[in-house]
Amino acid sequence: MSDPQQFASDNYSGICPEAWAAMAAANQGQAPAYGEDEWTARASDAFRVQFETACEVFFVFNGTAANSLALASLCQSYHSVICTASSHVETDECGAPEFFSNGSKLLVAPSADGKLMPQAIRAIATNRNDIHFPKPRVVTITQPTETGQVYSLAELRAISACCRELGLSLHMDGARFANACASLGCSPADMTWRAGVDVLCFGGTKNGMAVGEAILFFNGKLAEDFDYRCKQAGQLASKMRFLSASWVGMLETGAWLRNAAHGNACAARLARQIGGLPGVEILFPVEANAVFVLMSDTKLDALRDRGWRFYTFIGGGARFMFAWDSSPQRVDELAADIRQIASGAGEAGHE
Ligand SMILES: *Cc1c(COP(=O)(O)O)cnc(C)c1O
Repeated sequence: MSDPQQFASDNYSGICPEAWAAMAAANQGQAPAYGEDEWTARASDAFRVQFETACEVFFVFNGTAANSLALASLCQSYHSVICTASSHVETDECGAPEFFSNGSKLLVAPSADGKLMPQAIRAIATNRNDIHFPKPRVVTITQPTETGQVYSLAELRAISACCRELGLSLHMDGARFANACASLGCSPADMTWRAGVDVLCFGGTKNGMAVGEAILFFNGKLAEDFDYRCKQAGQLASKMRFLSASWVGMLETGAWLRNAAHGNACAARLARQIGGLPGVEILFPVEANAVFVLMSDTKLDALRDRGWRFYTFIGGGARFMFAWDSSPQRVDELAADIRQIASGAGEAGHE
């Protein structure tokens, strides 16, 4: 009964079986409200096991809230947050980071490839130190980036060393954190606190859950009163077990990493089939679950005419995102259509 699968967003996907089963298991009888239940304790512990550290864990409904509240907790209103021009916090959160921090300003750093590098951080953080400029306090990076690049561990360590030196906290927007782990094949601990990340927003929604992101504080002091911040922002789920149980399903079964690896493999599968076609350019290195394709407007229209949906407002090309449920066969259909359109067959001949 459903339409053919699309790759416009990884949020088009449904709920993966592991998250669904855990939600069903949590739906037995009653449980205490507002996070006082066993599922929430178990999910928090599952994060501590997975990250090999006693981090503070909080659950909210979505990534905008996770990022905004995490950044707000690291800032006073007169502080500023260094990010890239393409970062979700800058372009896709409707000013929520500024709103929830009561005005902390986002400072957009120049970036050649969407990655924030130490020299750009340093340039912004040291450019002004007078009373008139919002005092830089936090750096936020997206792992993988909005266009699907993955910071290496060495790059992360260099960024965090720069942050330490300049007295800045380091926040990671991990809306697709699992895809980065799968891509690098490294542990969550290596990618975060061992590399100097202070706070991580770990995305569950794009990873296969119905809803929910986790915020992990690797420095317990920074988490002080964060529960109040969540409540005030309308992000404290009353029936919290239905947010937290999915995490138990994702983490305890390893679905979080399997799902991500599958999405990444589907991106690589598409890239392999369309790379090098005439008039088709893959815009960014394919290192996670995204493929950005540059084609003429005529060719993009031909692709739309064949029923494909995709965004073009991010990254300057057609964006295709792959999730836990992406069908490799459907990826091949997309590749075949792009191939046909590239060869000219799509423009004259269809329908
Ligand atoms: C999807 C996404 C988010 C979260 O967005 P919500 O729609 O608020 O859940 C945050 N950061 C990045 C990079 C994203 O792609």
